[in-house]
Amino acid sequence: MGETICAISTALGEGAIGIVRLSGDKAFEIADKFIKLPKEKTVQEVSTHTINYGHVIDPKTKEKIEEVMIVKMKAPRTYTTEDVVEINCHGGIITIQRILGLCLECGARLAEPGEFTKRAFLNGRIDLTQAEAIIDFIKSKTDEAGMIANNQMQGRLSNLIKKLRADILDILAVVEVNIDYPEYDDLEIETTQTILEKSTAIKVRLENLLETSKQGKIIKDGINTAIIGRPNVGKSSLLNNLLQENKAIVTDIAGTTRDVLEEYVNIKGVPIKLIDTAGIRETDDVVEKIGVKRSREALEKADLVLFLLNSNEDLTNEDIELLKLTEKKKTIIILNKLDLETKIDVEEVKKLSYNHPIIETSMTTYRGIEMLEKNIKDMFFNGTTKPKDATYLSNTRQVNLIKKALVSLNEAISAARSGLEVDMVLIDYTATFNLLGEVIGENSGDELINELFSRFCLGK
Ligand code: GDP
Repeated sequence: MGETICAISTALGEGAIGIVRLSGDKAFEIADKFIKLPKEKTVQEVSTHTINYGHVIDPKTKEKIEEVMIVKMKAPRTYTTEDVVEINCHGGIITIQRILGLCLECGARLAEPGEFTKRAFLNGRIDLTQAEAIIDFIKSKTDEAGMIANNQMQGRLSNLIKKLRADILDILAVVEVNIDYPEYDDLEIETTQTILEKSTAIKVRLENLLETSKQGKIIKDGINTAIIGRPNVGKSSLLNNLLQENKAIVTDIAGTTRDVLEEYVNIKGVPIKLIDTAGIRETDDVVEKIGVKRSREALEKADLVLFLLNSNEDLTNEDIELLKLTEKKKTIIILNKLDLETKIDVEEVKKLSYNHPIIETSMTTYRGIEMLEKNIKDMFFNGTTKPKDATYLSNTRQVNLIKKALVSLNEAISAARSGLEVDMVLIDYTATFNLLGEVIGENSGDELINELFSRFCLGK
């Protein structure tokens, strides 16, 4: 590493404050080249973990550029574990760019995305699950998602993995006894018993981890939800009601044009990601309203389908055709326009419903919306979200490693059970141990590390 890196750590744009961060051996020295503190003090001289009033001065022209607050933090108790300086200036693109430019001129190098956090990892302050949690935390869309990420940042998953690895080490020690004293038959029976008991306990915990992670994924990434139904049944009214009643979070999808938006609504702690909301909105022209083709496309991506019917009209062929598309999908059927006279044959709907739950609503009087929201939550969480109490895996990298660890643990268990050669048993337990180590970043290759940190924001 060696080099001192710098970056703008706050969002670019107008803001009250902007922060430029420097990290590395020369952070204080570089800052001193363009920062003047009162009473001729230098950044190198002031106490660590202090915030100091000062000015940014162009070293060539001696021009006073900005009035700033300088945070000095000496290694190792810093984000990166290196010497860190944070320059707080007035927000706005021009000065902050200029201060960054001075850092570069005075010997720092521009940090890559996530490089500060990468240094924290490489310097051993955090492990890989904690680094991943930092990205998740920044990207959280609900309080619950933030809470899970925060727990993981504090080392909740790391601690569990470390505990499981310690348990496997215990097992390995017992297996070693078998290798060392193969002549004692009694001992062997006893140890096999112990090994199997301990292994089963670990197995159960790994399985639980995989199970709760499905919920974790939903809390983090949201449920892809498609609102389907023929024209005029009330799709955009439902969308608007959901958006009005709940906190809507709108984000651009990276790499696409600005008018393609992802819209999330936070329904009782469950982020619902609405698919193709633009499509639903451009519905003034009745003829153009979402047809079967577009519905089919939206359905393909959906984890949940909200299927609307107009209870004030007879079931039409188009309704039936659309309904057929929901056969293999988690679906809630919504009989809308409850405030009007019921003309639809409810029994017929039930027959065609593939046992999907049916809810009656009125978008104009808001009746049934609460019920709908409760149903959505129950469908994915059996009515309980307890993010605080569970430990979650937060991405496919972690999930795949735990799955592999479970496979080798199962092999170890059956090898132990069938009385196979002890060194065979040993190999499988060691593999499990190593796979769990990879979750927290032990023996992870450069490629993985680089790929992971490149997903961070600049300046983090
Ligand atoms: P979409 O084409 O499926 O998006 O349907 P809209 O949401 O645009 O609704 C079509 C029409 O039905 C609009 O005039 C709405 O005001 C009306 N509408 C929607 N939901 C209800 C409802 O529950 N009751 C009544 N009476 N009218 C509704």
